Amino acid sequence: MSYHQNVKKFEKINQKMNKGKEAADKTQDKNKKSKFTDGLKASVKAKADVEMNEKSVGKSKTNTKVKTAPKGKNADNKTLAKKSRCPYFKKCGACQMIDTPYDKQLRQKHAHVAELLEPYTRVAAFVGMEEPEHYRCKVHAVFTHDKKGNPLSGIYREGTHDVVPIDSCLLEDQKADAIIGTIRGMLKSFKIKTYDEDNGYGLLRHVLIRIGKNTGEIMVVLVTVSPIFPSKNNFVKALLKEHPEITTIVLNVNDKQTSMILGDKEKAMYGPGFIYDICCGMKFKISPKSFYQVNPIQQEVLYNTAIEMADLKGDEVALDCYSGVGTIGIIASPHVKEVISVELNSDAVKDAKLNAKINDVDNITFYENDATRFMQQMADSGDKVDLVFMDPPRAGSTPEFIESMINLAPQKVVYISCSPDSLARDLELITKGGYKVKKAVPVDMFPFTRSIETCVLLTK
Ligand code: SAH
Repeated sequence: MSYHQNVKKFEKINQKMNKGKEAADKTQDKNKKSKFTDGLKASVKAKADVEMNEKSVGKSKTNTKVKTAPKGKNADNKTLAKKSRCPYFKKCGACQMIDTPYDKQLRQKHAHVAELLEPYTRVAAFVGMEEPEHYRCKVHAVFTHDKKGNPLSGIYREGTHDVVPIDSCLLEDQKADAIIGTIRGMLKSFKIKTYDEDNGYGLLRHVLIRIGKNTGEIMVVLVTVSPIFPSKNNFVKALLKEHPEITTIVLNVNDKQTSMILGDKEKAMYGPGFIYDICCGMKFKISPKSFYQVNPIQQEVLYNTAIEMADLKGDEVALDCYSGVGTIGIIASPHVKEVISVELNSDAVKDAKLNAKINDVDNITFYENDATRFMQQMADSGDKVDLVFMDPPRAGSTPEFIESMINLAPQKVVYISCSPDSLARDLELITKGGYKVKKAVPVDMFPFTRSIETCVLLTK
């Protein structure tokens, strides 16, 4: 089959994938109450358009939580619908596998990815978590009130602006949930009203908590409709008294009718207005809007897997495509001669440059560009790289990117994927271009959801 025939096939598979998605979206419309997001969609790492929002602008309400449930659609959910260990399962219904034993979750997910990658390689065992609960270090709560005006906080029910009140979630960091509960409890005595979307009254819209798991730093973002926060200093004092572990509190003003959580204006009420986290020995700055993986424990496992697979010798030129805030390139930088990173989102590129600076990394260059266009330019100008890291959005890469990469002819490609479907589709083109899949290691980034992250090594 010629390259172009392959591309045709690629397009067909793409159409199929989109059809599948449309069908799913329709189901979702039909059953508004069932909180649909297929496991892949739920992937918070997930990327591209909508997801870029999560990464750089804050999550949209549809991907507020890694939760989903096409109710009664499969054996798990049928049994679960009766009595789930999660008290919110019926209303929130987002974690498709919340009642499936963890080892069984991993077996099921492994079977799925193994089937898709079967033509290319044997898939290694899933790298799961020792303690798979409470892994989310980015927690968002929407604030509202009941008919009597009592404050409530929780998540939006999919496709609506109804709030499902939640005290604690099995996926979320417990400290984060406790802080949200404290804030909810403080509102009455501080006479702070929660925002009412219908009539525009009230002040507090959302609370976003971000935790640096490896530094212990905690950021609280209070999202209000107005910059005037009554008894601001006393509020901060009272919150810190309950939770002295908070290292910064940010006031973010969002006065728009939007499903974006965060607005453009923000001001630190306490501390520096950002936190740091450490991943694979490198320090990363997390601002309210920066993208950073929500599961830091598995993030480290994933990146270590990618670096190990690359088996770096120190003299390589590596290309990091779809580089986000520069994490993979920065982590790889001590092990190679040079890193070239390319990322489309300008905010992410800014953060990436800063992250390189914080870590005194001076052998990395960041380009703000479309990865496909960049790859084509590299190939056309006859540049040489030894290795490509690629971590594309859920939709995968493009045939043009892959064609140019084949022309660029790196010795190795490390493909990090959050969608086994698009991965399998892309692997077909890459292997037709003369590469062999050497390893495939799935890493569980999102326990209790169907999301599958896989790290693949290809060599020429
Ligand atoms: N490697 C990073 C980010 C991966 S997420 C990490 O591990 O954190 C995928 C990234 O691809 C996002 O940052 C998104 O903004 C970016 N992206 C999406 N489409 C792109 C394109 N066409 N060209 C370059 N980057 C793109």
